Amino acid sequence: MSGKLEAALARCRELTEDMSFASVRSHKEKTGDGAIGYFPVYSPLELYHAAGYLPVAIHGGGNQIEITAADSRFGSFICSVVKSTMELGMKGHLDVLDGMVFHDICDSARNLAWLFERNFKNKLFMEYFHLPQKPDDAAAAAFLAGEYERIYTKLAALRGRRPDLDALRKSIGLYNINRDLHRRLYKLRSERPQDVPTAELSLLTRAGGVLPVEEHNVMLADCLAGFEARGNKHRDGIRVVVEGSFCEQPPIELLELLDAVGCFAVDDDLLIGRRWFDEDLPVTGNPFAALAEAYMKSPVPSSVRHNPGVPRTEALVERVRRHKAQAVLFIYAKFCEPGLFDYVLFKDVLEREGIPHLLIEFEEKMWTFDKARMELETFVESQLFAYD
Ligand code: SF4
Repeated sequence: MSGKLEAALARCRELTEDMSFASVRSHKEKTGDGAIGYFPVYSPLELYHAAGYLPVAIHGGGNQIEITAADSRFGSFICSVVKSTMELGMKGHLDVLDGMVFHDICDSARNLAWLFERNFKNKLFMEYFHLPQKPDDAAAAAFLAGEYERIYTKLAALRGRRPDLDALRKSIGLYNINRDLHRRLYKLRSERPQDVPTAELSLLTRAGGVLPVEEHNVMLADCLAGFEARGNKHRDGIRVVVEGSFCEQPPIELLELLDAVGCFAVDDDLLIGRRWFDEDLPVTGNPFAALAEAYMKSPVPSSVRHNPGVPRTEALVERVRRHKAQAVLFIYAKFCEPGLFDYVLFKDVLEREGIPHLLIEFEEKMWTFDKARMELETFVESQLFAYD
């Protein structure tokens, strides 16, 4: 591994595990910018960036914090990301933020937003917006553009700024570069999965949740060059599409297992919100309309949005074929309702198409991976044997 690539990945890991958000604090001190936290899955980061805030991904505490206070706010059967995000707030980890933005992905996230409002409204600016669920409705894009304009105007005013449309167009341009670099990294991973392990790719994307986009773009470009220069030997294994980790993120140790046992992911939906658009957005014209229309037209399938034109089941089969994958690996957070409801539908379609699949459930505070290792190894061996 090149020294530069190794150093960048080590930094990504450090940033990802740092629940004190020291890099965010330091960025605020250096630049005078504010910081806005956002909950997954998709959030219009361009609005926060252009209004003078560092967008900060808040998707739980991983295995870095103990849940001692947040349990009192929820029932037992709820995903970890909701509990640990509340815990981060209750323990003061999020005091570095000026505000927090949520949107409607599921009932658990909606409840979390209201709990934040109730518990932290004196510390944090709170915003909640609705992403339309009817992409074929002409009024939906106009509604969303109006929501974006409302939020941008409010955020800019809090920074004492006027809502500058050119600044917003410039931010769209920066995030276009970011998405394009992700597309190129994912393309390389599909072509040469042995050179771009899923855990490393995931760390790179996660680091973008706390780094300024300008710096993350440089990091992605450098790492892309580093991965391209690798020439790891081909190893026996199977090509899989990973589905189900669009919100709560699996422990990195679980993702490292995939490569270790020869389960090479050639596509995944980890932090899919960072890759929501498969084309650049226009950087001229009305930026609110550009962002809203891109969201409505995006063909990216996800369990947290309704897309009647592209059924998610058929889209999964298409991804398997496009990436020449041999199987699907479902990696779901425990108690993730949108994901686990879809699993039933996916499973039927994959069985109809003769595509093998395996389900692994995870939670943030997962310390032993022996069971997952055994299941993965058995699955890979059974497929290798079947394809010999
Ligand atoms: S992991 Fe699933 S259930 Fe939990 S907040 Fe995310 S989408 Fe909702």
